[in-house]
Amino acid sequence: MEKFILCFDDFKKKKTLEVKNEVFNLDLDSSILKKSDLKVSFKAVKYSDIINIVGTVSGVETFECSRCLVVFDKNTKVDFEFSFAKEDGEFNLFDEIKQTIILDIPMQPLCCAGCKGICQVCGCNKNQKDCSCKEQLNSEFIFEKWSKIIKLNKK
Ligand SMILES: [Zn+2]
Ligand SMILES: [Zn+2]
Repeated sequence: MEKFILCFDDFKKKKTLEVKNEVFNLDLDSSILKKSDLKVSFKAVKYSDIINIVGTVSGVETFECSRCLVVFDKNTKVDFEFSFAKEDGEFNLFDEIKQTIILDIPMQPLCCAGCKGICQVCGCNKNQKDCSCKEQLNSEFIFEKWSKIIKLNKK
């Protein structure tokens, strides 16, 4: 990952360094993020004793839905901005971008906002098939809850 290691010597000739659509191999051992196909673009500018890096990482990430377990692709775009000073020596932009991506990974990814998940009773994907199991469970649960409340009121 040489090209993501920046140091002040890189800016001796030119004050600006621009990178466009560089492949970002996010080698992540994650059960949530299954796969990623990301690219990074950034512009690093030297201002006397500081280097400012502004950029974007974007592409496709593959997740497993936390409710229905379906594997789905999601377009991602994350902006970042870093700066480092001369005394810091080398700056590992790869690690910093990696952290930014990790922070952006949802804890409980969802294939869609209203994902109905998997039926706890028959195991079917409720987005694809409508079973009546959950309804029964719900009404039983509500009945139990109300009967407790009614009992409490009677006392
Ligand atoms: Zn889902
Ligand atoms: Zn069911």
